[in-house]
Amino acid sequence: DPRLKAISDAISVVPNFPKPGIMFQDITTLVSNHKAFKHTVDIFVDRYRDMGISIVAGVEARGFIFAPPIALAIGAKFVPLRKPGKLPGEVISEAYELEYGNDCLEMHKCAVEKGERALVIDDLVATGGTLSAAIRLLERGGAEVVECACVIGVPEIKERRMLDGKPLYVLVEPR
Ligand code: 5GP
Repeated sequence: DPRLKAISDAISVVPNFPKPGIMFQDITTLVSNHKAFKHTVDIFVDRYRDMGISIVAGVEARGFIFAPPIALAIGAKFVPLRKPGKLPGEVISEAYELEYGNDCLEMHKCAVEKGERALVIDDLVATGGTLSAAIRLLERGGAEVVECACVIGVPEIKERRMLDGKPLYVLVEPR
């Protein structure tokens, strides 16, 4: 698919951000490029339009950029998975490990109904820890996670195409 090269070319790499040694994959240049952003959303929409998905869950913060246009196009609701303390209603929480320390994702309990089919979206998958927490949240809420999808994925995980027993779909590798 020639669109994948355009998507990859639109991502910029920022060395030593946010810490020395990290090659940060910056998707702000992807979403400010109308063609590349549209290709990204189109590929996901074509893949998920006829899969009976009623929830597109986005991981804060960059998953919030890609999940809503996909949700609107496939006729699903958008469910934000947020960092702790941001959601006003009753929440379910899932902690996960980072390279240094821990983090947590929260979801409104009432956002999901039992038996719903969910797609989880984030910008990038590295260890998969964040997506695993997202999967646990949705399943605890009663949803079935159909697939996780990211724009960028490290080669090891991109080629494995699975995460916690769920299909994982990744468009491009880090630049
Ligand atoms: P994981 O939990 O798979 O190790 O890390 C994935 C999470 O870290 C995602 O939520 C993603 O937004 C964030 N992340 C880590 N490194 C980068 C990076 O270089 N670029 C971007 N855009 N996000 C990153």
